Amino acid sequence: MTRHLLLGLALTGAAACAHSVSTTTTTSQANPFFQPSPLLYQAPPFDLIHDGDYQPAIEEGMRQQLVEIHEIGAQSASPTFDNTIVAMEKSGELLTRVMKVFGAMSGANTNDALEHVQEVMAPKLAAQRDAFFLDDKLFQRVSSLYARRDALGLNAEQRFLVERYYQDFVRSGAKLGPADKARLKALNAEEATLTTSFQKKLLAATKAGALVIGDRGQLAGMSDAEIAAMARPDGKWVLKLQNTTQQPAQAELENRDLRRRLFEASTQRAEHGDSNDTRAVITRLAALRAERAQLLGYPNFAAYALDDEMAKTPDRAIKLLSDIAEPAVAKAHVEDEHMQALAASKLEPWDWQYYAEQVRKKDYALDESQIKPYFELDRVLHDGVFFAAHQLYGLTFKERKDIPVYQPDVRVFEVFDADGSSLALWYCDYFKRDNKNGGAWEDTFVEQSGLLGTKPVVFNVANFTKPATGQPALLSYSDVNTMFHEFGHALHAMFSHVEYPRFAGTATPRDFVEFPSQFNEHWALEPSVVASYAKDYRTGAPMPQELIDKIKRTRTFNQGFALTESIGAALLDMAWHTIPAGTSTGDVDAFEAAALERYHVAVHEVPPRYRSTYFAHIWQNGYAAGYYAYLWSEILDDDAYAWFVEHGGMTRDNGQRFRDMILSRGGTIEAADMYRAFRGRDPSAEALLENRGLKTTPQP
Ligand SMILES: [Zn+2]
Repeated sequence: MTRHLLLGLALTGAAACAHSVSTTTTTSQANPFFQPSPLLYQAPPFDLIHDGDYQPAIEEGMRQQLVEIHEIGAQSASPTFDNTIVAMEKSGELLTRVMKVFGAMSGANTNDALEHVQEVMAPKLAAQRDAFFLDDKLFQRVSSLYARRDALGLNAEQRFLVERYYQDFVRSGAKLGPADKARLKALNAEEATLTTSFQKKLLAATKAGALVIGDRGQLAGMSDAEIAAMARPDGKWVLKLQNTTQQPAQAELENRDLRRRLFEASTQRAEHGDSNDTRAVITRLAALRAERAQLLGYPNFAAYALDDEMAKTPDRAIKLLSDIAEPAVAKAHVEDEHMQALAASKLEPWDWQYYAEQVRKKDYALDESQIKPYFELDRVLHDGVFFAAHQLYGLTFKERKDIPVYQPDVRVFEVFDADGSSLALWYCDYFKRDNKNGGAWEDTFVEQSGLLGTKPVVFNVANFTKPATGQPALLSYSDVNTMFHEFGHALHAMFSHVEYPRFAGTATPRDFVEFPSQFNEHWALEPSVVASYAKDYRTGAPMPQELIDKIKRTRTFNQGFALTESIGAALLDMAWHTIPAGTSTGDVDAFEAAALERYHVAVHEVPPRYRSTYFAHIWQNGYAAGYYAYLWSEILDDDAYAWFVEHGGMTRDNGQRFRDMILSRGGTIEAADMYRAFRGRDPSAEALLENRGLKTTPQP
């Protein structure tokens, strides 16, 4: 995943961050954020930054940015690219500087003081965004430039920048009359309230949905350690619900009736007619989004959302999903039949995980303890991740112990280009800590920009288990994959070669941004790369081919099921967000069932990964009409990797071409055009189907 705090002027407010209650008065002289860092590439001076520095710097940064915005709008000179667009790009320097670091620390190294600042500042930062986009004078200047964009003598990047600014304003409602603007604000406010309400209800519903088990015998199939972790002081055991439809325990529980009860608790968690029922909230959310889209001139919310994405229209996203749905569903039926042979009675959705696990153990068994000695972190980093980047792009790396870090586990590397020139700084913070968010991500402390004269300062964060002192850090294959993934985002940021910060690095559409990272995962199992890094840390012996093959084979296990449940969820998202304004969606379950039928993904044994009533991505997490993006990006990365395979594989020339045509371009051109130029055609799902083992006939 990549986190983009979106701090440039047009984008201020996407950041969910801000800062602290300091009891000490910080003067501008003492506050390290008030001037650019003197360190290499303006790396944050972590040795000088204190918790109390954030809030005053954010507040002062916001104040300066408001003054700048006001001055741009109020100037008497008629609008030019420089006095308006470039001026906006240059504004908010202090705010960006502090928010980049604050955002990073809130995610990877937080504490009570930082959390408090975040809470206090979030609404203020959101208001700052409104103050900007609803500024009439500013919009008139942008609008005037947009109308004359062909006559301004702009290069392609500049012209696209004018178009993007214009779209940002229009999409935020700048063209509406006063009454519609008021309605829009009311809808935005209502959505914020409903989103919070959904979040609270779902949290409570998921908690309340846990099953309490009084008889230990019912838990047969689970390990003693798992059962111990579920134990309550009253001598009973609690099976807690996870956010997805299918629950991990279903893979182990031998008691079929308990599997059924767990499945029903999961799928019906938010439909009990009590205060945790989300049905009224989601139907209202869908309706108000449709109304807002109509106000802004779109037939439905998905049309509004996708206009800003690579897919461009709901029809194209739906077509892609439907194209892969057919082979996915067919494969799911094959898997179903295979497992049915092991089961005594007809396979139900609550049986799938259980029998799939039997198949996995029998046909695919991977013993983690057998694999881990070959994946020692430092070796994976130097001889795997860095090695692949050297083979493809000629990069070299040198550890910099002199650059201050925020935590002793963090390491810093200076990155050198193929010609030996210095390119960027890259930090890694790999080990789990209590004050770090879960998962793994990439972000920047400083974005590359020709205009601002800045070079990329990039970081990767993960949650690998920290070894005991003196012990090697041994990784799972999934961890290795994560390192390659996040480093793919980092390459996107480090190779950024753009003029304007609005377009730097990973500032691409949501359905494109996971493409470079997922693409980089492909090299983890490249024969020359595996041979370089996968060595037993005790003996240096290479990983046996049989083990490598096992890892590769596991990737096609149960993929009919996995793809069908993802596509089901993505199409459900599209169904809710393609309703026209004023439509009554009626009963939630009936609407959902009809949608799955209509899109041919109604498979009784394979329900959607999330059902409507607990689909947090689309109701609370900003992925409304966006869940398809995961699969869309996967099509791109598999298809681009296929290009490499067709053209001689892992070579410097191929890497250079990928860097020049994709990784260096940031958001400077339409993603679809960028991809077409690289691939010579539009993306095709063939490679994805093949990689997931869903193609019946092998490619010649
Ligand atoms: Zn990612």
